[in-house]
Amino acid sequence: MTQEIGTTPEVGNFATLGLHPSVLAAITAVGYEEPSPIQIQSIPLIMAGHDMIGQAQTGTGKTAAFALPILSRIDAARREAQVLVLAPTRELALQVATAFESFAAQMPSVNVVAIYGGAPMGPQLKAIRNGAQVIVATPGRLVDHLSRNGGLLSTIKFLVLDEADEMLKLGFMDDLEVIFNAMPDDRQTVLFSATLPASIRGIAEKHLRSPQQVKIASKTQTVARIDQAHLMVHADQKVNAILRLLEVEDFDAMIGFVRTKQATLDIAAALEAKGYKVAALNGDIAQNQRERVIDSLKDGRLNIVIATDVAARGLDVPRITHVFNIDMPYDPESYVHRIGRTGRAGRDGRALLLVTPRERRMLQVIERVTGQKVAEILLPDAKVILQARIRRLTQDLTPRVKDKENQNVELLAHLTTELNCSVEELALGLLAKTTEGQAFTLAGVEREQPVMTSRSRDDRGQRGTRDGGGRGDGAGRSESRGDRGDRGERSGDGARERRAPLALSEGKVRCRTALGIRDGVAARNLLGAILNEGGLSREAIGRIQIRESFSLVELPEEGLERLLGKLKDTRVAGKALKLRRYRED
Ligand code: AMP
Repeated sequence: MTQEIGTTPEVGNFATLGLHPSVLAAITAVGYEEPSPIQIQSIPLIMAGHDMIGQAQTGTGKTAAFALPILSRIDAARREAQVLVLAPTRELALQVATAFESFAAQMPSVNVVAIYGGAPMGPQLKAIRNGAQVIVATPGRLVDHLSRNGGLLSTIKFLVLDEADEMLKLGFMDDLEVIFNAMPDDRQTVLFSATLPASIRGIAEKHLRSPQQVKIASKTQTVARIDQAHLMVHADQKVNAILRLLEVEDFDAMIGFVRTKQATLDIAAALEAKGYKVAALNGDIAQNQRERVIDSLKDGRLNIVIATDVAARGLDVPRITHVFNIDMPYDPESYVHRIGRTGRAGRDGRALLLVTPRERRMLQVIERVTGQKVAEILLPDAKVILQARIRRLTQDLTPRVKDKENQNVELLAHLTTELNCSVEELALGLLAKTTEGQAFTLAGVEREQPVMTSRSRDDRGQRGTRDGGGRGDGAGRSESRGDRGDRGERSGDGARERRAPLALSEGKVRCRTALGIRDGVAARNLLGAILNEGGLSREAIGRIQIRESFSLVELPEEGLERLLGKLKDTRVAGKALKLRRYRED
């Protein structure tokens, strides 16, 4: 059975899906307002005990689609392993484990353990023995555990294969067989994969029982003639990206879409602080207040509304020139629906979309389904922002300097006499007053803008292959050690690459590759390749220094030979990486 999701707009409600009350309470705390299409379809199937194949990529809400029903069905009182989620990389395993933890926040007796390579096995084993009900693991490390303790998975009732196609690409087929054989046959199995090649279908045939199939609609969607653009940005840089884009986009009224209530509030507050006339619209806002916000947007008292999809339902304001997809929509249909809010009444419409590296595939799906390219734009730099500010000031002053009826002729004479200054000096003083709080020089604008990394040309070719679902977010972020959880801005690549060689971090050795700037390699390419193909975590990789004709990367000394073995066929920017230990002396 195949269910096409999104072909008809469905209004969902988590409360009708039969989830456990503790899980429902956790969803409310996380701020989800309604289930995504993949969740609407998957949750009832999993709740009813079916095996399932979900064709969905990162960004569709697939993690919650399996985590919520499974948590609702486990026996929290039994302190033994009941759920196993297999993920291709440590990064994804950690993300999924964190998601489970947040959805189990109201279930104090439920414990989650993440099992992955590169960390000591002892504590992982202890957590399983102590009765963690949910194990999220990468296949390689789990097989290591199984070779020591074959009975580890004998109590598993739910198995999830997350990003199954990626696991096969990374060569985990044999490990998966070992794991399947170590589990009871009467378990429930759920498989999520962005693509369903023959190898995945083979696994499903062999190891799933009459699986139900769920996928997001691939039915062509007609998009109105709207000018569409996307910007690649890391999740922690979204607010700054929005602020910069708003400076250069000529908009009349704008609606910005986000996924959670909290995001509506956070983003509206950030924009308000910069002087925009903005309001948040989410499911918690009372109907009369909602109407006031919409009226204000209609008559120009507000120019921006930041809304969740639920809250924006039925909102029709002809003044809207821009739709800003700050968070990715769950499926192409929702994208088409959102952007249809602009370009009304014969006006020009523009749709902007922020894409985080792990959502790249979602962008491709949108382009395929709509049959349209969503052009890439780059982050406006200080020069572009300055030009936009000058343009706006000029537009603002034009009618005033041309105004023959200007009532201020006498005042001008009075002020030049009173201040004993020339007209030019007075004009400069007035300009200083008008532009207060906003820089109008390049250096000034640069000082105002936090430094951000935008995707550079040279890593464009890399991304498609390297950071499929869930793993790319790390790339470009962790250029130095210990920056997990650092949500602040980072300096640009250039600044980093000019840095002098630094003392080695503890437990690390330096490795060298003959690829450098001249090969079109940036730090984030190396990082992405090593993270993905080496199966390392961000913290395991130390400093990366890119030089003209070579690069240096700090890697853990422990297990180095094995790691270099894993990376031996890795290619970056189309060339062999050939990473070797580098001895400075
Ligand atoms: P995933 O596709 O599982 O990687 O999820 C993508 C993002 O969507 C994550 O940040 C989730 O927290 C978020 N998300 C998932 N489901 C919902 C929902 N129903 N409402 C709002 N956000 C969601």
